[in-house]
Amino acid sequence: MQARHLGAQNVTIVYRRGQSRMGASSHEQDHATRAGVRIICNAMPVAVHGNGAVREVEFAHTREGASGLEETGERFRLAADQLFRAIGQRLSGHPEGLALSGGKIAVDDKGRSSLAGVWAGGDCATGGDDLTVTAVAEGRDAAEDIHAQLMGADHG
Ligand SMILES: Cc1cc2nc3c(=O)[nH]c(=O)nc-3n(C[C@H](O)[C@H](O)[C@H](O)COP(=O)(O)OP(=O)(O)OC[C@H]3O[C@@H](n4cnc5c(N)ncnc54)[C@H](O)[C@@H]3O)c2cc1C
Repeated sequence: MQARHLGAQNVTIVYRRGQSRMGASSHEQDHATRAGVRIICNAMPVAVHGNGAVREVEFAHTREGASGLEETGERFRLAADQLFRAIGQRLSGHPEGLALSGGKIAVDDKGRSSLAGVWAGGDCATGGDDLTVTAVAEGRDAAEDIHAQLMGADHG
């Protein structure tokens, strides 16, 4: 959407899985398509073509097979002069005894993790909806709980 607002004539999001698997909510997807962004699902990039600068991106159509995502054998190309790669993020390595859930740090409603004295919030912790306002609120809630613990209040 920002690319469209900054003047790009054609903006396409290509997502390798089906639409229902997209991390973006349907509201966010609608928002993007209303701004003129085209969303193509079930396709993944396989090659960038151009001579020193991107001219075309080649994609393979995909389907969910028994052993995961697989190519259907069909390919297509999109003309492009800019290419943005969405890299995602994943927790790698964590202290022993720190419980995870769904690849994130498991926390209770006060932000307490399974390790005494360790709180977590925001995108790295369970329970949120990956929004800035949520991350900020969880930081505030954790700070209040840390303060209460330091002051000796019984919040068990
Ligand atoms: C493209 C995009 C668009 C978004 N749009 C919106 C939006 O419109 N509205 C909205 O509310 N939210 C939006 N979000 C989500 C929002 O950005 C996040 O939910 C929010 O930033 C989470 O805050 P956080 O503090 O948990 O994590 P982050 O903001 O990711 O902060 C984590 C910080 O920790 C640092 N870090 C990581 N590992 C280490 C380490 N080992 N040592 C030290 N530092 C480390 C990172 O560099 C980073 O600065 C968007 C996210 C993306 C990717």
